[in-house]
Amino acid sequence: MPELPELAAHAERLDAGWAGARLERTEPLGFTVLKTVDPPPEAAHGAAVASVGRRGKHLLLRLEPPAPDQPSLAFVVHLMQAGRLRADARLARRPRGGLWRWRFADREALLLTEAGTERRVGVWLVRGDPCAQEPLAGLGPDADALDREALAARLTGQTGRIHTVLRDQRVLAGLGRRLANEVCHRAGLSPFARADRVDGEALDRLATALSEGLAEELATERERDDLGSARERATRVHGRTGEACPACGDVVREVAYRDYAIHYCARCQTGGRVLADNTTSRFVR
Ligand SMILES: [Zn+2]
Repeated sequence: MPELPELAAHAERLDAGWAGARLERTEPLGFTVLKTVDPPPEAAHGAAVASVGRRGKHLLLRLEPPAPDQPSLAFVVHLMQAGRLRADARLARRPRGGLWRWRFADREALLLTEAGTERRVGVWLVRGDPCAQEPLAGLGPDADALDREALAARLTGQTGRIHTVLRDQRVLAGLGRRLANEVCHRAGLSPFARADRVDGEALDRLATALSEGLAEELATERERDDLGSARERATRVHGRTGEACPACGDVVREVAYRDYAIHYCARCQTGGRVLADNTTSRFVR
């Protein structure tokens, strides 16, 4: 799933291309993609795009208010695993995987697609502050906005494993499985460490890993011209089970779950201990 740096760079590209564009009309291409009924999509027609931004793992297309004293509308888009939002020059009647299209009076159209058959991508149209409403209302602060003290405050009272807590969008927003793996490795921290017990030097390292990791990835993503795919991303441990750890040369290991895996280096992160998915064990840290 695209995570904070990929989406931040993609929002910047969309903003550069479509800020100021006048929305002519919207075209629903899939039945279940629009998650809201009020306001109706027609209410957005004719408005100019104020900006394209990001909140958590959502893209945020803000429109100019219809009049200075009226609330503005915004489209919130969640691409989930396989969604893409990009320019649409072809304007096919039934584009492959097509879910939603924005037609502009003075720019290329934007087309939202989803590969595969899961149909998990969502679009919300909201009136007023989008960050105060579903689906954004319950999100924690964006992961790239947290310094050490703010991070410490977010982890207070979180008794889950740090790898799980880092991915909890209500605690901090924007990280998924890849970044949770990468940040734990960068910080030299066991993915199974209890979140509220990460303190002192470990917390220093986690805060640094988070800010430096996100900044490095954002710089890389800014060089792309599209969202790209997970396979194109350079990683240290994520998806590299059996390969050599780039920091120490030890083998990268995994704890496999039904639909994902935690990747880590025992030498760098757990003092050499091999982790097992045994949630009843209180001794694995
Ligand atoms: Zn290592």
